[in-house]
Amino acid sequence: MTEQKGKIIKVSGPLIVAEGMADVKMYDVVRVSANRLIGEVIELRGDKASIQVYEETSMLGPGEEVVTTGAPLSVELGPGLMEGIFDGIQRPLEKLVEASGARIGRGIDIPALDHTKKWTFNPKAKVGDVVTAGDIIGTVQENEIIECRIMIPYGVSGKIVEIYSGDFTIDETVAVVDNGKEKVNVTMLQKWAVRRGRPYSAKMSPSEPLVTGQRVIDTLFPIARGGVAAVPGPFGSGKTVVQHQLAKWADADIIVYVGCGERGNEMTDVLNEFPELTDPHTGKPLMKRTVLIANTSDMPVAAREASIYTGITIAEYFRDMGYSVAIMADSTSRWAEALREMSGRLEEMPGEEGYPAYLSARLAEFYERAGVVELLGSDHRVGSITAIGAVSPPGGDMSEPVSQATLRIVKVFWGLSASLAYKRHFPAIDWLTSYSLYSDRMEAWYDDNVDAEWTDYRRKAMQILQEEARLDEIVRLVGMDALSPHDRLTMECAKSVREDYLHQNAFHEVDTYASLAKQIKMLRLIIDWYEVSINALDGGANVNEILAVPARDGIGRAKYITEDELEKIDELGRMVKSQISALIKAEA
Ligand code: ADP
Repeated sequence: MTEQKGKIIKVSGPLIVAEGMADVKMYDVVRVSANRLIGEVIELRGDKASIQVYEETSMLGPGEEVVTTGAPLSVELGPGLMEGIFDGIQRPLEKLVEASGARIGRGIDIPALDHTKKWTFNPKAKVGDVVTAGDIIGTVQENEIIECRIMIPYGVSGKIVEIYSGDFTIDETVAVVDNGKEKVNVTMLQKWAVRRGRPYSAKMSPSEPLVTGQRVIDTLFPIARGGVAAVPGPFGSGKTVVQHQLAKWADADIIVYVGCGERGNEMTDVLNEFPELTDPHTGKPLMKRTVLIANTSDMPVAAREASIYTGITIAEYFRDMGYSVAIMADSTSRWAEALREMSGRLEEMPGEEGYPAYLSARLAEFYERAGVVELLGSDHRVGSITAIGAVSPPGGDMSEPVSQATLRIVKVFWGLSASLAYKRHFPAIDWLTSYSLYSDRMEAWYDDNVDAEWTDYRRKAMQILQEEARLDEIVRLVGMDALSPHDRLTMECAKSVREDYLHQNAFHEVDTYASLAKQIKMLRLIIDWYEVSINALDGGANVNEILAVPARDGIGRAKYITEDELEKIDELGRMVKSQISALIKAEA
């Protein structure tokens, strides 16, 4: 790798232009000035390179040197990632702060992973085994929960001639592979250029839900394991709570949370809050299965741009082990703004609202790295990445370019509504504007694995909510009294679906999570109530009497019934039915 030295000719905020860079490649990393600031080449014209610098550039000036490294922006992958908190270019935040105090110093070189720590490597392959890229040759127990699976790196294959067992650093050889020409030392560390997706053998169509325990999501707008979703959240609409609930409850093995520069203190919130959360499934700290990528407020805008790639590459690494990974990017709007700022400084032709014309393409590139895939390696294992991007449209206006570009890509849209949040209906996911394009293809899964009538009940609930919207119009025009008794029951049922079902208190010990088994029981309780009520009405019962049956009070409290007492919901259902049916007999 030959080092090339260029000279700065222009500094414009986080962007610098250097000449004498003829041999550098797009996206190569360079070190800028005597401070060795980290930068990445984002445009090449002749021997001039435009470089986005990931650190404060205010002291730079023309004439200072730029040194190429000959390598693209890469991350370190190996044991020690779990529980990590990194910045956008994978520098460990804690160590950065240790090295330079709260205000992060410049040009600091700290490896992402600890290169001195010894990990216990348990070999799973043996001498003589023929291996190819992706084969798991051993494991390292990273913490109580996560096992890091050590894979043959991309580009290596052959016969294992040596394999060890015991304690090693990530740089020490744990196996030697003879590829026919030479012997290749395999370590526990892999490096990967972040802008390139890690390879797999085949992409499959997502067909199972990622269960979140959040009723409005799992029932009405489910996300597939390996799917892509967007959650736009105007300020105060509960975006943070939704993200936390997903990070806590989604049945993914691993969570990668990318905070790409929300306002400074919001990121600090995440940094303070996440380490405090406990994983409800294991009772252990949530961080044990989490990797956090955080841009603190004193990091320049360019680092946000990189953070999303750093995050997805780490997610791919765990996917490659055969895990189900969920990545959350908060917020993609801030990321797009970084893109816009760099594009402006490059003096590119601006597209809509100043965003570059390639905004959609870049967003698509990110989301395309999600999916369920059959992996490399001879065991045909499967892994998945589910990607959930928060969008924060200014003023909640969804017609702006980032929201629009996102909507064209994602298959699930959870639209948080300011007016629902104002009414304290949480999660404030608007059932009339949200959608999931996975729900049709996952119907069979729900019907086979949860309840044969899942899809029926889901559709009925959705219909009733839509019917309510229509009736609301009428009520607004001519008042409640104009509604037929039948319509009154429909309105009551919709209210019950909203308040007793969709409304879910994230801070209530029991209500915070509902299993799919609980969800179908609750939904059946409400919809069956409606159907017997309509029956009774048709059978001559009085609508006020139907609404006044005592058992109905229990419906609103069903959400607080614990998971080990779910049969109580069925009992309640039987009581509701018998009390209402009795009204028919009374009339007859
Ligand atoms: P945003 O991040 O969109 O600005 P937050 O996630 O901080 O909004 O939510 C604002 C407030 O709304 C929270 O502090 C909380 O009181 C309430 N809230 C949001 N979601 C829920 C929920 N699922 N259950 C109960 N309260 C919620």
